[in-house]
Amino acid sequence: MTAVPPPVITIDGPAASGKSSIARRVAQHLGFTYVNTGNMYRAMTWAVLEAGVDPQDAEAIRAAAAGITLESPVVEGKTQVCVCGSALGDDELNSDPVNRAVSLVARVPEVRERLVADQRALIALGPLVMEGRDIGSVVFPDSPHKIYIDATEEVRASRRSAQGHADQVAERDRIDKQRTTSPLIVPQGAIVIDNSHITLDEAVGQVLAALHLP
Ligand code: C5P
Repeated sequence: MTAVPPPVITIDGPAASGKSSIARRVAQHLGFTYVNTGNMYRAMTWAVLEAGVDPQDAEAIRAAAAGITLESPVVEGKTQVCVCGSALGDDELNSDPVNRAVSLVARVPEVRERLVADQRALIALGPLVMEGRDIGSVVFPDSPHKIYIDATEEVRASRRSAQGHADQVAERDRIDKQRTTSPLIVPQGAIVIDNSHITLDEAVGQVLAALHLP
């Protein structure tokens, strides 16, 4: 008899759609480990920039990434990201240079291959709420628990600037949707929740209501 794998709730959506706040709350409610895969791509980007690599140069990114160790230890129910043994904080992960370069680094197929393998391995932690861009389409395509969180472009841009980030969300979304390897899409079978005009509590309630957990 084969063991049934732990459930993975996949939460995808564009930049600043509110998916991190929603995913964190859903994970807390269910007692599942919360995984923010955007932070893994951000950590890789931070390390690549520290190495002096031009984020437009895919070949140089590939070469630098091969020497970078990434780990995702769990602290208080959430995965953190460590680069070569040191944990990165919000200042590094959400810096302007990382915001500008992350979609360029994330479109390199070898970077994705490696991070997708790391993300799949996190199932060893038990039940997960994992958020990102390709979680329901590529990382865990067989999960029966797929959510896609959306919000209008205006709402997303104003949320991002309210967080103090001078971030081009529209430009990041354009690159994320147009890249060849695992672009941002609504995964097959995902339930779409637009949270432009509802509260965080209401959005979390809609996600929990949409899930059919055993
Ligand atoms: O979620 P967040 O906005 O922090 O993600 C930052 C960037 O990381 C995205 O714009 C995208 O380029 C990349 N990303 C990705 N695949 C994921 C998660 C994030 O390509 N699963």
